Amino acid sequence: MSFVQAPPQLGNQYAADRALRRLLAHALPVEVLRDIEPSLAAMGELAGGELYRLQLADRDNEPKHTAWDAWGNRIDRVEVSPLWRVAERIAVEHGLVATAYEHKHGLHSRLHQFALAYLFSPSADLYGCPLAMTDGAARVLLGSGSENLIKHALPHLTARDPGQFWTCGQWMTESTGGSDVGLSETTARNEGGQWRLYGRKWFASAITSQMALTLARPEGNPAGGKGLALFYVETRDANGRPNNIFINRLKDKLGTRKVPTAELELNGAPAELVMGKHDGIRNIAPLLNITRTWNSVTAASFMRRGLALARDYAQRRVAFGTALARKPLHVDTLAGLEAEFSGALHFAFFVVELLGRSEAGRASEQQTGLLRVLTPLAKLTTAKQAVAVASEVIEAFGGAGYVEDSGLPLLLRDAQVLPIWEGTTNVLALDRGYARQACCACRRSSSAHSKRR
Ligand SMILES: Cc1cc2nc3c(=O)[nH]c(=O)nc-3n(C[C@H](O)[C@H](O)[C@H](O)COP(=O)(O)OP(=O)(O)OC[C@H]3O[C@@H](n4cnc5c(N)ncnc54)[C@H](O)[C@@H]3O)c2cc1C
Repeated sequence: MSFVQAPPQLGNQYAADRALRRLLAHALPVEVLRDIEPSLAAMGELAGGELYRLQLADRDNEPKHTAWDAWGNRIDRVEVSPLWRVAERIAVEHGLVATAYEHKHGLHSRLHQFALAYLFSPSADLYGCPLAMTDGAARVLLGSGSENLIKHALPHLTARDPGQFWTCGQWMTESTGGSDVGLSETTARNEGGQWRLYGRKWFASAITSQMALTLARPEGNPAGGKGLALFYVETRDANGRPNNIFINRLKDKLGTRKVPTAELELNGAPAELVMGKHDGIRNIAPLLNITRTWNSVTAASFMRRGLALARDYAQRRVAFGTALARKPLHVDTLAGLEAEFSGALHFAFFVVELLGRSEAGRASEQQTGLLRVLTPLAKLTTAKQAVAVASEVIEAFGGAGYVEDSGLPLLLRDAQVLPIWEGTTNVLALDRGYARQACCACRRSSSAHSKRR
């Protein structure tokens, strides 16, 4: 029998992650860490065990869209892969959204939630995408002042019971532009007191969501971003039929292939205004800040997964008489990746910490400004790092890294979405709010500096 190479293995992903454990030990009071550690260890066990095995076995499964039933009814049924169904149950039962809204640990609740998300994400094939949007929608609804939506939808978004849980889509991008959303063509008509939406949404991820927050221009409103309003829609009617929302097709994508991303036709979809008839882009911004934070945490988590696999493999793979783990150049390569990962982890979780403070009403003015500045910066930086690290990880496996059934190419393909969605790198770099804050921070520090002098 010829030589057979042992594949890389994962153990408990919390126990094995010294960088995360150190970070949490530094950021959290001892009693909080003691309280949350069992939940992190449980998620680490799932992520390196059952969920990871299922992810490898689920590799060839993809979402399926059925537009019509046998009798000519438009049904637009989308079936997600088995991994996604399990991932949803785990995410809900472990409170991946709920933890942030239960505030059990006050300003530390966000750290707990995102530590869970970080452990979960690399084994869940982007199920973090609907979770991120759901989390962002919960934040928007809480701040919306809409008693009806807070009472009706919020409990579903933050549920811990899979039977009650809803996810939320975020339908902004149209074929006219995802960066320049002010060009959106979707219109909203008030028809006898009921708002109805007409138009086409070009990228609508996690289309199995029960609800969505979306932008449309009420008739008579001016062109541009200010004239758009933020709307709430439910995707199905009381009988489970499409709510005048039709799926033209699912996108055939480079990566994120488990995420059903749809092109949609809104043909009179009933909708509710969330926060008035204007300023939809401004009103949806809190959602984007949350999804960008998820993006940063996911980027760090992908880097960590690549490294965990590459480090383990380096112990098992022998070349020129010794394991790769004893080759100075290979060790140097992995150390470089570790440094990238460590920086990304700390950057992402610093933003999480600020977010937790801000939501708990415990952020100083400076911390609030910092949160505003760093959210897009962390997103754009960590996303770029994740792609570079994933590419290097593939090379660290040699030819095996390039072969699909090793499960490794997925890392690179999925990482490549991180710099694109939730705002491309250059568009985030131009973020006007960020630039304003950076300017204020600069002015503050230079005036403090000149006072000191
Ligand atoms: C897998 C996937 C899932 C997605 N899911 C969703 C979703 O659920 N909901 C949703 O709303 N959107 C979604 N999107 C869309 C995504 O947010 C957009 O693709 C993204 O914001 C970019 O918009 P665009 O594709 O229209 O590119 P464009 O806006 O046309 O950008 C093209 C290029 O131009 C650059 N550019 C644009 N403006 C400037 C400028 N002022 N200065 C310099 N450079 C500029 C960009 O950086 C980019 O490189 C998804 C995208 C992908 C790939």
